[in-house]
Amino acid sequence: MGKQYETVIGLEVHVELATKTKIFCGCSTEFGGAPNTHACPVCTGMPGALPVLNRQVVEYALAVGLATNCAVNQYCKFDRKNYFYPDNPQNYQISQLYLPICHDGWIEIETAAGKKKVGIHEIHMEEDAGKLIHDEWEDCSLVDYNRSGVPLIEIVSEPDMRSAGEVIAYLEKLRLIIQYLGASDCRLQEGSMRADVNLSVREAGAKEFGTRTEMKNLNSFKAISRAIEGERIRQIERIEEGRKVIQETRRWDDNKEASYAMRSKEDAQDYRYFPDPDLMPVVISDEWIARVKARQPELRTEKLARYQSEYRLPQYDAEILTASKHLADIFEETVALCGRPKEVSNWLMTDAMRLLKEHGQEPEELGFAPQNLAKLVELVEQNVINRTVARGVFEAVFTENVDPLQYVEEKGLKVVSDEGQLRQVVEGILRENPQSVADYKAGKQKAMGFIVGQAMRAMKGKADPALVNALVKEMLLL
Ligand code: ADP
Ligand code: MG
Ligand code: ZN
Repeated sequence: MGKQYETVIGLEVHVELATKTKIFCGCSTEFGGAPNTHACPVCTGMPGALPVLNRQVVEYALAVGLATNCAVNQYCKFDRKNYFYPDNPQNYQISQLYLPICHDGWIEIETAAGKKKVGIHEIHMEEDAGKLIHDEWEDCSLVDYNRSGVPLIEIVSEPDMRSAGEVIAYLEKLRLIIQYLGASDCRLQEGSMRADVNLSVREAGAKEFGTRTEMKNLNSFKAISRAIEGERIRQIERIEEGRKVIQETRRWDDNKEASYAMRSKEDAQDYRYFPDPDLMPVVISDEWIARVKARQPELRTEKLARYQSEYRLPQYDAEILTASKHLADIFEETVALCGRPKEVSNWLMTDAMRLLKEHGQEPEELGFAPQNLAKLVELVEQNVINRTVARGVFEAVFTENVDPLQYVEEKGLKVVSDEGQLRQVVEGILRENPQSVADYKAGKQKAMGFIVGQAMRAMKGKADPALVNALVKEMLLL
């Protein structure tokens, strides 16, 4: 019957760095400005304009390289990659070919079969291109150079991955490292992290790799998984039909769940790379590397351990909280204000996670202020509101970042612990439910829960539950 095939995958990941200004000029890198307002003679390739390297770009690239176990080329250079395209006004992209800043690293991923190292071939620095806008006006295309010259690093992996699961694990790990370093926010949807997937298949046990294709235009983990599955099947079918896989670049259409040939694969020599004569080589001293290393923030593994020792959180909590740098930041800032780490963790792990899921959002998109979560924790702690009400208040904090105390006052949600008032309510409920009273007296414990529930409902959830419980117990025995 059918032959067994192995899938071989290597990734080229582009990440936009979080610098304030562009890689070779002082223009802002801010996303979303009016078209061509973040542009100058340098980043629009005007004759005579000269690039000056942004030091912070080198520091971020170094930081990522060191965190991914790379060796550093302490003498590295920029090269010109020559091609014409209207979003590339210089007619070349400044990149690194011969001496990239970092090389030969690895990161470790968790797979179904245990831990596995994925090799990193190299990391190089380069500039981003502008953006073409095709659909806005009829019969013409527009170009926006705001993105032109935004700094990128490209992280090229070895062809070490064997499944979509490994690819996603690799990307998640890489994204976490970079986010923790503060080198980029790594948002796939917004394009600050972009992955090109190189994929080939070979018969199980074969020594040589098969011919690969490269897929572009993948802007979510789901799209990446689907593209890998689609391309794997397409290549196997071709081979089974006795045809060859053609080395080419393909565009994945996630709506149609199919890929299309975009262009035949180009080689380095097609671009006539040569060293950029406008830029000095970059010399990275041992001291510079040591400084970047010393400034390296706490990465996930260390944070995981600290959450368990310092905050006494279960490993499960620590894993969820540290799986997003943003979530971990919110957690730490909240705990700094109100203490009670387990309580804060519970709000984030259960209610925040549930709401994120309902809204189809990522933890990165959590928008409320830690101050407001801290206030909510204190309101519960001081018994100003009960837990049922608190969950509703949390939802308002989550969606609108409300001030919990103000919200509770405006909506009249404070806990009712006026004994006289609650006594009256319970009395009424007992009168209306003689059967439950009889059941309770006949030994059915459950009947009490029902009465308490009715009383809480009559109080619109705002009663002090401990007091209601005590009153029901007392009055049932009368
Ligand atoms: P090029 O310079 O032509 O772009 P590279 O050798 O730099 O090619 O590889 C680009 C990416 O493709 C790397 O991530 C690498 O791991 C991956 N790759 C190389 N060969 C294969 C293959 N046969 N199957 C899958 N991926 C591959
Ligand atoms: Mg390449
Ligand atoms: Zn500029």
